[in-house]
Amino acid sequence: MLSHILGFPSIGSERELKFALEDFWAGKKSLTELEKTAEKLKLESFRIQKEAGLSYVTTGDFSFYDRMLDTTLMLGMLPRRYTFNNLSKMESYFAMARGDALRNFQALPMKKWFNTNYHYIVPEPDVKFRQEPDFTQLTSGVVLAIKHRYRPKAALIGPATFLALSNPVWIKNKWELMDELAEIYCAAIKHLPAECSFIQIEEPILSTEMEKEAWLSFIPAHRKIKDAASDRKLMLTTYFGDPLLNATPIYDSGYDVIHLDMTSLKHDLKDYISELPAHMSVSAGVVNGRNIWKTDMDKAKGILDMLSNKLGEDRVLCASSCSLLHCPADIRNEHKLDEKLKNKMAFAVQKCYEVASLPTHKAAETDFSTSTSAVRTEITSDRSPYAIRKTIQAEKLNLPLLPTTTIGSFPQTQQIRSLRRKLKNGEINEDAYESAIKQEIYANIQHQLKLGIDVLVHGEPERNDMAEYFGENLDGFCFLENGWVQSFGSRCVKPPVIYGDVKRTKPITLKWTKYAASLTDKPMKAILTGPVTIAKWSFMREDMPQETVWEQIAIALREESLELEEAGIPIIQIDEPAFVEAMPLDKNIQEQYFDDAVRCFRLITSALKDSTQVHTHMCYSEFDSIMPHIKRLDADVISIEAGRSGMGVLNSFKRNGYESGIGAGLYDIHSSRIPTATELSVSIERILRYISAEQVWINPDCGLKTRGWGETLSALQNMVTAAILMRGRIEKNDEKAIG
Ligand code: GLN
Ligand code: ZN
Repeated sequence: MLSHILGFPSIGSERELKFALEDFWAGKKSLTELEKTAEKLKLESFRIQKEAGLSYVTTGDFSFYDRMLDTTLMLGMLPRRYTFNNLSKMESYFAMARGDALRNFQALPMKKWFNTNYHYIVPEPDVKFRQEPDFTQLTSGVVLAIKHRYRPKAALIGPATFLALSNPVWIKNKWELMDELAEIYCAAIKHLPAECSFIQIEEPILSTEMEKEAWLSFIPAHRKIKDAASDRKLMLTTYFGDPLLNATPIYDSGYDVIHLDMTSLKHDLKDYISELPAHMSVSAGVVNGRNIWKTDMDKAKGILDMLSNKLGEDRVLCASSCSLLHCPADIRNEHKLDEKLKNKMAFAVQKCYEVASLPTHKAAETDFSTSTSAVRTEITSDRSPYAIRKTIQAEKLNLPLLPTTTIGSFPQTQQIRSLRRKLKNGEINEDAYESAIKQEIYANIQHQLKLGIDVLVHGEPERNDMAEYFGENLDGFCFLENGWVQSFGSRCVKPPVIYGDVKRTKPITLKWTKYAASLTDKPMKAILTGPVTIAKWSFMREDMPQETVWEQIAIALREESLELEEAGIPIIQIDEPAFVEAMPLDKNIQEQYFDDAVRCFRLITSALKDSTQVHTHMCYSEFDSIMPHIKRLDADVISIEAGRSGMGVLNSFKRNGYESGIGAGLYDIHSSRIPTATELSVSIERILRYISAEQVWINPDCGLKTRGWGETLSALQNMVTAAILMRGRIEKNDEKAIG
């Protein structure tokens, strides 16, 4: 049985690529030096795969920045503006990725890659401006592998996925481009050295509900590609979801192999095999490429055996579920972990060994039952309906029309970061740290008072990261020393690990919020990160359904909320920026997902008094399809991202009869531009076209932690000015109406 992985992390076990890139961008390293690092990393990944015993080494998975961007280059579909001034290919490439301040180019936008935390660059093919396709990147990996006597497999992102995630310009129906793309893929394949006999075409879009046009163009395009491959083996590769919905295009593609992500399959595997064309093999992604735990080898082998029995062993390949890009490099770099825990983990290097050894693994008898069924905590709620809560809260909070607030964080200065570093290194003790953080909180409150903001926050100076901070203060989490995973480009994150039952053994945010509240008579808003977001931004345990883990986190947050309420904090905000990105790709299970996510949110809030106002925040601006679930959260106020749609997002709220408070993000905190008060007043006017003044809250569209103080204060000042201006206008109009 052959074995392979779908891809290896590019970044390097010591983040070599990150540092090389950053040196190159800073002008401290030449392109040749950067390329040398890249070659070393590629060879290192080949060596690991070969030594582990895999049948192929994967090429084409390495990227200087992002593979969608590489594909843009391969296809010769760069937006025109990045090719001016005789920029070299590499200059254009990094200009698309990062912008170019000198020449005043903005970067292309980034989006999350399916339901992962990896961000890809959103291509913008310009159909009126095409360049020659460029296969250098693709072939160079294959050539390098051959030169060093490895057996290469070439990996490419497929045309349907590329198009589905792109924003082509000058064309109405982007799927008309499929045929042309297919031609280029044919040329690319013909370009590959003959020694490359196995090609991986990645179409994760098959795991989602595809547009009709995508469906229609899929089969002809892939048939064409298959023809061009002649006797090379082509693998149609899906991952992150269950592609059964799209079985027809898969079976009709003519491809030789279909790769299935066994960790995401929801349907019975037998449903796939019963219809599988006789010429097709199955690459079984049994080793989870997105997590850090060792594989249950018996169970994985059980799946391989079952497939072998049905199809014959020569029609089965053993693989990782997806690229190993999504997990850290090597467990051997962890020196501080508890040995017992470390023994349960496998990172990219170890996963190569698992995949390679599974075909000959002798499985013990296993039953296929996945995990224990969980105890479900039912919501016990005395909380009245919104209409009643609204009156009680209005009386208690006594807020003006169009109340102003912020999303939670204030600038995380270098000074705050260095405080945390010093605490970690033992240069300062807990007491010194605490009093320094309190000083920051004190300053945040003074700023907000001076600005005249109505609902205050403490500013989150104690939090390194909104998910990690909660992990650090709850039982059941541990932290890796070198568990870096690429987030985008040279940026890496080190997600917390949930390994055990999550429990709250001590207050988390209470001390800071209480201190902040003691400094003012204005209402204080406590900020918590919600269970779905904490879990989504962590590595999850696998021995328990995810909704049980959410529930454990929710119960911990409920305890925290009750103590905040008891301490007199009148408003509690639960941030769920991952509410939508955590949604499964498979339509059939999305309803269940939302049921669980909503239930966990309400598990936190249901115990609170009517007089305690519940806010939620989501960095999201397309609500149409999820509106029913947003309503079910039953929050008193929701703050959202709105600028990108020019407030158009509020249409969803209007159409759906959303009654509670809405803070439509008034300005984009991702930009350092300071919006003027006039501009912001116009935005408020626009908001008022959709929702009534009584519902409107005035706030930026996300936390301010990445901004500097100067811009933050100016922008907030203009925001408050605009709110006061509009408030005055509305009140005057009301008087007129009455008088
Ligand atoms: N409360 C968080 C902050 O202000 C929310 C961040 C987010 O939504 N990503 O930073
Ligand atoms: Zn946000």
